[in-house]
Amino acid sequence: MSANKVRQQAISDVESYVPPAISFDPGEEPGEIFGANVFSVSVMQKRLPKSVYKSVLATIEKSTPLDPDVADAVASAMKDWALEKGATHYAHVFYPLTGLTAEKHDSFLDPVGDGTAFASFSGKTLVQGEPDASSFPNGGLRNTFEARGYTGWDVMSPAYVLENPNGNTLCIPTVFISMTGEALDHKTPVLRSQQAMAVHAERVLKLFGHADPEHVVSYCGPEQEYFLVDSHFFLARPDLINAGRTLFGAKPPKGQEFDDHYFGAIPERVLGFMMDTERELFKLGIPAKTRHNEVAPGQFEIAPMFERANEASDHQQLLMTTFKSVARKHGMECLFHEKPFAGVNGSGKHVNFSLGNSELGSLLVPGDNPHDNAQFLVFCAAVIRSVHKYGGLLRSSVASASNDHRLGANEAPPAIISIFLGDQLADVFDQIAKGGATRSKEKGTLTIGVDTLPNLTKDPGDRNRTSPFAFTGNRFEFRAPGSLQTVAAPMVVINTIMAEALDYCATILETAVADGTDFNEAVQSLLTTIISDHGAVIFNGNGYSEEWPIEAEQRGLKNLRTTVDALPELISDEAIELFSKYAVFSEREMHSRYEIGIEQYLLTVGVEANLTLEIANTIVLPSAIRYQTELATNVAALTAAGVEADVSTLRAVTAPIGALKAGLADLTSAVDKLHDLSGIEEAAFARDNVLPAMASIRAAADELEGLVADDLWSLPTYQEMLYIL
Ligand code: ADP
Ligand code: MG
Repeated sequence: MSANKVRQQAISDVESYVPPAISFDPGEEPGEIFGANVFSVSVMQKRLPKSVYKSVLATIEKSTPLDPDVADAVASAMKDWALEKGATHYAHVFYPLTGLTAEKHDSFLDPVGDGTAFASFSGKTLVQGEPDASSFPNGGLRNTFEARGYTGWDVMSPAYVLENPNGNTLCIPTVFISMTGEALDHKTPVLRSQQAMAVHAERVLKLFGHADPEHVVSYCGPEQEYFLVDSHFFLARPDLINAGRTLFGAKPPKGQEFDDHYFGAIPERVLGFMMDTERELFKLGIPAKTRHNEVAPGQFEIAPMFERANEASDHQQLLMTTFKSVARKHGMECLFHEKPFAGVNGSGKHVNFSLGNSELGSLLVPGDNPHDNAQFLVFCAAVIRSVHKYGGLLRSSVASASNDHRLGANEAPPAIISIFLGDQLADVFDQIAKGGATRSKEKGTLTIGVDTLPNLTKDPGDRNRTSPFAFTGNRFEFRAPGSLQTVAAPMVVINTIMAEALDYCATILETAVADGTDFNEAVQSLLTTIISDHGAVIFNGNGYSEEWPIEAEQRGLKNLRTTVDALPELISDEAIELFSKYAVFSEREMHSRYEIGIEQYLLTVGVEANLTLEIANTIVLPSAIRYQTELATNVAALTAAGVEADVSTLRAVTAPIGALKAGLADLTSAVDKLHDLSGIEEAAFARDNVLPAMASIRAAADELEGLVADDLWSLPTYQEMLYIL
């Protein structure tokens, strides 16, 4: 199909759009379906023997060690429940370092030998699985002959039934480890780091008079941005299919300058898609909450309610899978890439983080008088210390080839990791730095000037979209994670660096108390020390400004602009010491993550380079040459007819064709040279030579897009992909 036919098809589809028939009772209450497909705590309460239920609940809520004897009873109840829900198979679901979700499906049915079969599912099968690990990245943790990898049941994250028109599957979230017990996944370190953070958070709480505090957990509320594109366009773009982003495409005449999309009315088809996804998410117990348009045309956001980081992270992966499949049902493709369209706003996945427990709520709530809330100030100071000390690690936790297109591009926070506290807290910490805080700026009231409207309370601090790590009232929002990434990686770093900072605070305070120092004085002096050692990380100004990188450098903050700059942070002595001390990663595991980071970077850039060559050679160049021939034929015909021919258009087209060919030669030779290099040198070469060669090919192709006759141009344009939904 030519591009025009593709576009016409899409337009008529949009015009004749009828929402897919609903397959549920329209009177259904959202509350009825919420968690319907989840083997939740309340399902367990109904179906498990009382002692087993109590034991499992203690593990889930208080992190007491799992009693191995409960597995058989849980497996049996889980199997009965899943069969009632129409499941025919079960799968251990795990999260390998590709960033994707992996599943190994097995049938419940065991043939008995006499031609019949019966459904079986033992405790042993629930607890442990053994997928072949050889096809997942391991970064040198395994030799190829040691292919064994094990999955292990994570009782903290509930099992669920995933529906499919052709049969349902019981899904069991698991960790994925090597034969030597090393983590090959994203979940294992989330659980380890959560455990480490809790120990030290609870020490701090004890100092503040909570004699036996409830188990402290970290919470994560991920905001997911994404693009929707009509399937017709998507399927006509090999770059979108294979790389998730457009490698070609001129800027549309109308971009996002009008700001008319942000929070605008949601198009009907998109709304239909959103309703459908939310219903699926609800069934899986994922608390989808907010939805709205984003800054760019075709861009949207979903924010589920925050949950414990481990669950939030599993849910986030499930959300992405659900969005992809529901979008296809609605004739669209959901794009999670951080920068699917150059020159158009990219997508992030803001990670809202807090820590707390069911008894105390978020420990990052300042109350009305933060200056007087010593416990809050200690937790907040711990965040400041950890982000300052380990900003490089935070940066490395969000490093990927695709996120490099977004960080620092004046739409996402810069690659420099700093903290925004807001006016009120910045003022309190200012006072602490000067010796002690005695007052807090007050919440104001907004007067609207219309008597019939209620007065609105005004937050004591404004928002700052340019800050990578911003305090937003009862949590911190880490804005650097990319839309395609798992939230597990940043959560592992946040938990671990918080463990270190809280350990530091608890140790100082415990020592002071033991020495008979007045507790309030000890807290004061701790806060003053932290703010004078680490206050340099606090920046309330504009992170997009040109002055900030200069000032940040003077403050000693790192500016790790690309993945290649950021990955070595993972194997610094400081990082290895930190992660070993809190038993989150061994040195070998750190090295393996570093190797995998490089491997993934090279894979991504390699695929994009090959796609660039292919699309330029087989799609762009042929269109351009056809048009060039048409123009040349025209010139020849005019000349033959004795008419003076204008060759300016022919010249205008010929120049970028030449540039395109030169770019192709450069890229081919850059790709060839990669073979002589390896590891971080290869990655640096790819960044410095392959990406720029791709960019020059693109520039020539985009220029041609503006010149070649529309009926000869066969790639769907930005205008079509972004505006026709
Ligand atoms: P905003 O647009 O203000 O950033 P959203 O409503 O889009 O806010 O998303 C905010 C996210 O922060 C949601 O996922 C929400 O559940 C989460 N959140 C709210 N309070 C907390 C908290 N105490 N800890 C962690 N996440 C939180
Ligand atoms: Mg938001």
